[in-house]
Amino acid sequence: MESERKERRIQFVCGTCASTLVTRDAWAEWDVAEQEWVLGAAYDYTFCHACERETRLVEVELTS
Ligand SMILES: [Zn+2]
Repeated sequence: MESERKERRIQFVCGTCASTLVTRDAWAEWDVAEQEWVLGAAYDYTFCHACERETRLVEVELTS
């Protein structure tokens, strides 16, 4: 159900410091029709900008 799917929202945080300043290695591909970069593929390498080092992401479910 669409309404149920919308209710479950998640956030990824750093497994070390719980910061939300985390990014993931990915490829962007140029979409000619949309005239913008679109996400092509996401890779396992994750980086925390608070720790300034590679990290492990933890999925947190948002309750609000
Ligand atoms: Zn961190």
